[in-house]
Amino acid sequence: IKIKITNIDIPVAFASAFEGEIIRRKDMQVEFDGSRVDCAELVQTCDASEVEDHKITVIGPEADEMELGSKNSIAYVVKVAGKNMQADFEPVIERKFHNYINCIEGVYHTGQRDMQRIRISIDAFNAGFRIKHLGEVLYAQVKNEFDAVVDKCEVVIYTDPAECTRVRHEVAIPTFEKRDERLDNLTDESVDVYYSCILCQAFSPSHVCVVTPERLGLCGAVSWLDAKATNELDPAGPCQVITKERPIDENLGAYEDVDEAVQKFSQGALEHVTLYSIMQDPMTSCGCFECICGIEPFSNGVVIANREYAGMTPLGMTFPEMASMTGGGVQTPGFMGHGKHFISSKKFMKAEGGIERIVWMPKELKEFVAERLNATAKELYGIDNFTDMIGDETVAEDPETLVAFLTEKGHPALSMDPMM
Ligand code: SF4
Ligand code: ZN
Repeated sequence: IKIKITNIDIPVAFASAFEGEIIRRKDMQVEFDGSRVDCAELVQTCDASEVEDHKITVIGPEADEMELGSKNSIAYVVKVAGKNMQADFEPVIERKFHNYINCIEGVYHTGQRDMQRIRISIDAFNAGFRIKHLGEVLYAQVKNEFDAVVDKCEVVIYTDPAECTRVRHEVAIPTFEKRDERLDNLTDESVDVYYSCILCQAFSPSHVCVVTPERLGLCGAVSWLDAKATNELDPAGPCQVITKERPIDENLGAYEDVDEAVQKFSQGALEHVTLYSIMQDPMTSCGCFECICGIEPFSNGVVIANREYAGMTPLGMTFPEMASMTGGGVQTPGFMGHGKHFISSKKFMKAEGGIERIVWMPKELKEFVAERLNATAKELYGIDNFTDMIGDETVAEDPETLVAFLTEKGHPALSMDPMM
């Protein structure tokens, strides 16, 4: 018998109303910051004999043994067991931690994997909230929402810095790497089905993401494996199987099956969607794209801006201005929202010639994608250090300076066919 836990045993409130709550430095009791010290959050599938249901352990100091306003390490491992549990579900459960922890009154959470950041407010601390209560929340919510696969759940929270370092480097990072590798080895051709995602229809009613191994959701948070797991966990949920048995044009990534699926899931608002083109029937965008690319006519290329970038692009538009060109679930040829990892994909704008079209990106984004993007450019076109040919804000914020830079570097886009 499975019992839904309605009351979580913590001394502060728990509700989605607290999700947007921000805790300022002066209001915080303690902070945990994965970008500065060793942190991790992880779901680990275990054998039933290794999990003691509802056991919550804190290894290391509690919040009342930490200095007011201090930055600390934290690593929590949520051990789960269940006969229907699969390792592929782990990241889907983990991704919910952000939402769970944010719903606690006086507690704030951002990031994921080994880069999470948590703040506990002075008010929550004074009300009696302690680190062990994070475990109570994770336990209760995982049992509530994943009862189809999780029979037993135990939470181990490490705050001892040496233990956090060990857990992060010896347990968490190898797990994340293994997951990423599994996805890296999948191609669109090697799978039999794609998945739709309509999670964003709450605010973009006709938006449908088609998620493939080489094209993750534009939010950057839903990979093909995640969509697959979401579908298996909740067959009537936001991610549905899309077959790919009737290709129309493989170069465009056009399929009759995909068209039918987007027609159905957009309630008829969309008729045709291609997977690999930004010009012909491009995928729609909701509002949560990590990046936007837009055509830059003077260089026959595209400019990409990421959400964090506050400056100007050579299109004469900032990120919010580019965002206003697309979004809302409509198709806008020439502009498209996408995830950061899609930039190094062999399927990025494949129909228009692929990543060779990329002429400009903010420096920070370029550095973030460099290793993977350069590897793809080497493999596809034999170009070494392709990112050296791509402009950024330190090189150009207007098209003339950009074209001069691209000419000097011999950027391949200049000699390609115009995109329109
Ligand atoms: Fe789903 Fe992400 Fe696409 Fe939203 S943006 S529909 S969450 S894949
Ligand atoms: Zn969205």
